[in-house]
Amino acid sequence: MIRKKIVEILESNDLLKDFIIYGWVKSFRNNQFIALNDGSCLNNLQCVLDFENTAEELINSINIGAAIKVKGTLHESQGRGQRVEIKVNELEILGKANPEDVRKTILSPKRHSLEKLREQAHLRVRTNTFGAVMRLRSKLSYAVHHFFNQKGFNYVHTPIITGSDAEGAGETFKVTNFDLKNIPTNEAGEIDFSQDFFGKETNLTVSGQLEAETFALGLSNVYTFGPTFRAENSNTSRHLAEFWMIEPEMAFCELDGNMDLAEEFIKFVLAYVVEHCADDLAFLEQRLLEEEKNKPKEQRSPMPLREKLDFVIKNNFKRVSYTEAIEILRNSKPNKKKKFQYLIEDWGADLQSEHERYLVEKHFKCPVILFDYPASIKAFYMRLNEDGKTVRAMDVLFPGIGEIVGGSQREERYDVLLDKMKALSIDPEELWWYLETRKFGTCKHSGFGLGFERLVLFASGMNNIRDVIPYPRTPQNAEF
Ligand code: ATP
Ligand code: MN
Repeated sequence: MIRKKIVEILESNDLLKDFIIYGWVKSFRNNQFIALNDGSCLNNLQCVLDFENTAEELINSINIGAAIKVKGTLHESQGRGQRVEIKVNELEILGKANPEDVRKTILSPKRHSLEKLREQAHLRVRTNTFGAVMRLRSKLSYAVHHFFNQKGFNYVHTPIITGSDAEGAGETFKVTNFDLKNIPTNEAGEIDFSQDFFGKETNLTVSGQLEAETFALGLSNVYTFGPTFRAENSNTSRHLAEFWMIEPEMAFCELDGNMDLAEEFIKFVLAYVVEHCADDLAFLEQRLLEEEKNKPKEQRSPMPLREKLDFVIKNNFKRVSYTEAIEILRNSKPNKKKKFQYLIEDWGADLQSEHERYLVEKHFKCPVILFDYPASIKAFYMRLNEDGKTVRAMDVLFPGIGEIVGGSQREERYDVLLDKMKALSIDPEELWWYLETRKFGTCKHSGFGLGFERLVLFASGMNNIRDVIPYPRTPQNAEF
């Protein structure tokens, strides 16, 4: 007898054959009908018990949440709601679940808020919503590797512990093995990092970009896909302290090629899940409709989930320079009527999420790629334009999300890069290895960073980034 996953059984035409199935009880009706789920798909498998010939003690243990093993025969279902069902020949309880205790958890069969699910994050993978999101997340990450592999990119594992702060933003988590109650200091009273594990100050990476750049300048096309950490105290529905980032880097490539890649990449991975996660997406679409039912019309999504994904897959992203965007924003209604929290007055202003969303959701009504930002609001490594005041930066902005991608053509000119670092008080000694790549066969190169959870957020129609990662890390929260 062979063991099958429920997804295989539901798609199977092997009627009257015997199978072994494992799973968790979702519901048990009339002492007869078990809805079984093993996480292989959204749908449950109906297992029909011959209760008259089953020991009462066993029947009493078939409770919601219990893990069971079933041996049975596949039949066409008599009832409505499913095509096939399993007639149980043998049933074994592998792990009991006490109904009294289950009632206090999110496993109990009623609607639980997403907040409640977060409090019981160790159990939420058994719910329909979170199970669907996690399968989608898994498929999306597979699609990421599939895309780059098929385009000949090399996957590079950049370090998690680094001695550099790529953005120079200082929002890093420190890594140390000092005894925190007894930190060595030098004569000046400063912490003596020379006695720490690495003999220097280290932190968790905020981005693998600088290291990825060095690899692109040897392997041509590379990408990273790994965890990044930011100690930014932004308690928003789009920021995590630990998130996964995808960072491609291409040698001999300028900003246009970089924008092309970002657009092609996003369309590919979304099309992949539309094709391979049909049931989960249908469910998530329905979930979103339900959630938004009670919202005023202007707060609802303009399109159902799958239509929105199709829209992004089929339409070109609108490419707009920062300068054009500022003009649009300056003349926009919310700016004139002082509805923006931050009013746009002068060229050079940093764009806030409200502005990004206005451009995408109200003005262009499609994903937007903004490029050629003022040098003053962007990182040191972005390539300076001929005008001397803008850099070859690009951000991809998405409806409901704002920034999903941040990228640029990198400054490949040694002298220009060095001057920039000095101007921003970034110690060239610290990044000597990065600078050195500009001395030995430097070349034009470009790349971007895409926050994986923002992609999952968009694809799933969920609203809070905490609900698309197994165990979210946010300020004041590292439970589990
Ligand atoms: P934001 O302005 O939204 O904070 P950022 O400018 O700090 O973004 P980058 O440093 O360019 O972002 O990082 C690249 C990408 O990583 C962003 O486009 C976004 O998708 C994602 N990202 C950045 N910070 C976070 C975070 N705290 N949590 C989840 N994703 C993030
Ligand atoms: Mn940020």
